[in-house]
Amino acid sequence: MDTSYIVKFIYSGEAATVPLLHNWSFVDLCNSIRSRFPDLIQGNFMLSESVVSNTVCEDSSTMLEENDYLGCYRAEAPKSYMTKGWESYIHSEGQKFEGGVVEFRDKLRKYAIEIGFSYEFVRNDKVRVIAQCSKKHSQGCNWLVKAHLCRDNGFFMIKRLVNVHTCHGVIRLQKSKMMGSKVVKSIVLDKIRANPNKKPIDIADEIKSDYGLDVPYRLYPVAYAIVDSENESNWRFFLEVLAEEFTKHPMRRVTFISDRHVGLVSAFPRVFPNNPHGFCFRHLMANLSDKFPAGSYLKDQIPYLFMCCAYSRTPEMYEFNMEILRSEGGDIVA
Ligand SMILES: [Zn+2]
Repeated sequence: MDTSYIVKFIYSGEAATVPLLHNWSFVDLCNSIRSRFPDLIQGNFMLSESVVSNTVCEDSSTMLEENDYLGCYRAEAPKSYMTKGWESYIHSEGQKFEGGVVEFRDKLRKYAIEIGFSYEFVRNDKVRVIAQCSKKHSQGCNWLVKAHLCRDNGFFMIKRLVNVHTCHGVIRLQKSKMMGSKVVKSIVLDKIRANPNKKPIDIADEIKSDYGLDVPYRLYPVAYAIVDSENESNWRFFLEVLAEEFTKHPMRRVTFISDRHVGLVSAFPRVFPNNPHGFCFRHLMANLSDKFPAGSYLKDQIPYLFMCCAYSRTPEMYEFNMEILRSEGGDIVA
């Protein structure tokens, strides 16, 4: 197996990693850096080794122009994130993934985040995955990986890997396009297993500080209960546990939206007498539709008229639409 070295460069607040190929000359390396940072002008930057707490670096503002010196733009020691290991997740042809396609896809995603590029699948199924750099079309980038299932043992194996980007801007970003819910899920799962009481806000903060990555959306806690049936006493039990949690964490008044289940409608005011309780529009539409036999004209018409009421922009329009709904739906709607 090839030992691969990866060199990290930092310039203007962005970091880029370049795989160091054994047959590269110094000029090759410089050209590779220039392709990552297109605004660098050849002959106008200095290549230097950077070690943590290097005094030359820390004092760079007096010695060198910030933009002329790679790796020394900030005074604090470079932070090492927990994603550091991700850059070696994809390294060579013949590399095996014992967890099959699931492990391969997970590692590919994390590798791309850490190296700083995005990819698209040419093929993506349980037997074969082919991915290419997303700048294949715009810049003709050659980066490519092909992996397939080994039927004998269920492993996934890299059959072909062109692990050099010829595109511009392979830069590790805090807001990575590849930082989707799957990566977040795999990180969150580990954190919740370690501490089931951890709050979503703390998890998002930790992902930022441990991995240097932003979660591109908010994380919400989900409360659930497994019960024998959906009835009033079970709903009441669930709401009471929920209410107890709320008293531990005082917050703004919470509005509830439900599917209007009978058990919930009667349990709700007993546990949360002062909280507003609304009903989900889609569920109300479905409930209305259920009141009419399949294939009947009104089965579609009544939900439509109801939608017109809900989307009325003025009180006059609302009254007008309600009148039509009442006259068409009769007792069933009332
Ligand atoms: Zn590329």
